[in-house]
Amino acid sequence: MLLSGPNSLRFYLWLVIALVVSPTAGTAVAQPTDSKRPQPPNIVFIFSDDHALQAIGAYGSQINQTPRIDQLAKQGMVFDRSYCANSICGPSRACILTGKHSHLNGFMRNGDSFDGSQVTFPKLLQQVGYQTAMIGKWHLESAPTGFDHWEILPGQGHYYNPDFIQMDGSRKRYEGYCTDLVGDFSIDWLENRDPDRPFLLMSQHKAPHRNWSPHPRHFGKYPLGSVPAPDTLFDDYANRSELLKENEMSIKEHFHWGHDMKFHGPNEFPQHFVSGIPNGEYNRMTAEQKAQWDAYYEPENEALLAKLRAGEMSEEAITKWKHQRYMHDYLGCIAAVDDNVGRLLDYLDDKGLAENTIVIYGSDQGFYLGEHGWYDKRWMFEESLRMPLLVRWPGVVEAETRTGAMVQNIDYAPTFLEVAGVAVPVEMQGRSILPVLRSGGEKPADWRDAIYYAYYENDAVHMVPMHDGVRTERYKAMYFPRTREWNLFDLETDPQEMRSVHADPAYAEILRELQARYRQLHRQYDVNPAAIAATRGDEAWWKQRDRAKRELAKAGDFDLVFLGDSITQGWEGAGKEVWEQHFGSVKALNLGFGGDRTEHLLWRLTRNQMGPSRPRAAVILIGTNNTGHLMQDPDKIAAGVKEIVTTLRRKSPRTKILLLSVFPRGTSADDPMRLNNDEVNARIAKLADGEAVVYQDLSDAFLEADGTISTKVMPDRLHLSAEGYRRWASGILPTLTEWGVVQPAAE
Ligand code: CA
Repeated sequence: MLLSGPNSLRFYLWLVIALVVSPTAGTAVAQPTDSKRPQPPNIVFIFSDDHALQAIGAYGSQINQTPRIDQLAKQGMVFDRSYCANSICGPSRACILTGKHSHLNGFMRNGDSFDGSQVTFPKLLQQVGYQTAMIGKWHLESAPTGFDHWEILPGQGHYYNPDFIQMDGSRKRYEGYCTDLVGDFSIDWLENRDPDRPFLLMSQHKAPHRNWSPHPRHFGKYPLGSVPAPDTLFDDYANRSELLKENEMSIKEHFHWGHDMKFHGPNEFPQHFVSGIPNGEYNRMTAEQKAQWDAYYEPENEALLAKLRAGEMSEEAITKWKHQRYMHDYLGCIAAVDDNVGRLLDYLDDKGLAENTIVIYGSDQGFYLGEHGWYDKRWMFEESLRMPLLVRWPGVVEAETRTGAMVQNIDYAPTFLEVAGVAVPVEMQGRSILPVLRSGGEKPADWRDAIYYAYYENDAVHMVPMHDGVRTERYKAMYFPRTREWNLFDLETDPQEMRSVHADPAYAEILRELQARYRQLHRQYDVNPAAIAATRGDEAWWKQRDRAKRELAKAGDFDLVFLGDSITQGWEGAGKEVWEQHFGSVKALNLGFGGDRTEHLLWRLTRNQMGPSRPRAAVILIGTNNTGHLMQDPDKIAAGVKEIVTTLRRKSPRTKILLLSVFPRGTSADDPMRLNNDEVNARIAKLADGEAVVYQDLSDAFLEADGTISTKVMPDRLHLSAEGYRRWASGILPTLTEWGVVQPAAE
């Protein structure tokens, strides 16, 4: 190693720090290429929001130009198979910071709050001497951790004259355009950093997130009529899950008059535009900005309105106009991102930093630019599953290379750590892409050949159902838990994903293989649907019952609560008289929901369905639908029940829990579902602690001597008759009486 001068001293200091902090750091730092490097490389991570690959030159855009982002492709590597783990803003960021899938980092849906005490890559970089900064869109609710400096947008932030949250928690409003301000602040921070230490800069743009408000310098850059519409703009959602039709993210149906389409005043054509959300950006503008805005938009708006008033436009023409307006605005926002990527690259050049700085451009997920008739993201279809990823690292990454290695956003953290010579914590689920970067895009022999995807934000804006799935190089299988339905796509013959072939006999073997792969990925990534809280709020009756029960629970003075599925709900049906007789005088609440599995009860508890009630006792009966619907592994179901018990203990420590065995079902003792429930029971019995949690097995109360179930007790051999409820009540009354919840029966 030939090193001299102050740089060599810095390097050796660095090496000592890295070795002390990280047991494996020495090997990485001692790579031969590093002998030329005065310091571990700086990392500039430029990240935007909702930037689709279809709108990046380097990915073959037919609709816009991104010369400065493309510069990274010319000087570095483009990832053609780059995917997100959960296609939505906050969750994607949490995956990136932690290197873990959503169900383990805990940020599963927008609106969750990121647990900043977790291990993240910025913290680990900070510990080995990196200066770390986070500027722009954060969107994780809690304050950033692991950064020497941060200045972030509140929530989504604004395009015009945005507020930024300061490190002391205060908010500061800046006059100007958000994308340019994020560029300014990023360069300011670089300018004022300690030049003797390596740095991590996360420069994260709000753009091009909805409601797409371009800077005046980009007005008219992509004028109406200039952007070709995608082939699938008028998708009718046939030949795929019926759930697609429930979406509320179509250009035709769901664009707002003010917010999206930038009209002023009351909605003149509610049959064509959604009323409600005004253009909040306009309201933030200065008089001068408003004048510029109106000078561009108003003539176009008036021209359209004149045609609409004259009845001159077909439904199809209106949808196409909306798509054009959307593209003008969206692509205009991207133009400003591209400008600011250029400013940072120029700065690195000017300061002689380009050589030893790895620059990454990415975006939190892809986006629909009219494909399938949509805007927004969320679905596991290609346009939103894919993430742009371009990497420049002079001397390590060959210029003008592309790779087909499958990568995911959980890989970023391990990559940054390995780049810095820091050991990757075993809990991180991603894998460093450094070997791909170093080898001109070749993937190691044992590289992944499939990725796992999961979307959890049910019953939320845009109405995309919860789903997860697996994608291999050629195929994609998606699973929808609500309808317990698979969709399968052959991306070679159907790249636009217009026809699911899950029921095509020619694909039966492929589907079986993909399902096996899906189960394997569940194991690999520790995904247990039975223990991941899930709402059924997208089903009207369920949502209505949930609302009604919450209303009841507000009183907050319940002594006894029953938690479960249809068997518990049946206390309101076949069990009504028995309930009146035994629990009529007790303040008891029935939180049984037909069809619920452990994950749904878990959702109800975590979302505080019990209200302020801290009952003296809770009777839990859950799990038979995990068996009946899905035949889940008993270990998984038991883990779901355990999570329920733990959650209830945490929420209401005073509540004594009477945990019941999952009731027997099926005709005979060797019924597979009966056997599965027996296995679950063997496991959940161990949750009893003899104090706060008591376990009771009532099976014998429902079984004949030969192990069969009489229809007198369970008419369908699953749900109880009045006699069944009588036996259930008799079984639990002694315990509830002992606990003082129920008064002893008169002698
Ligand atoms: Ca996003």
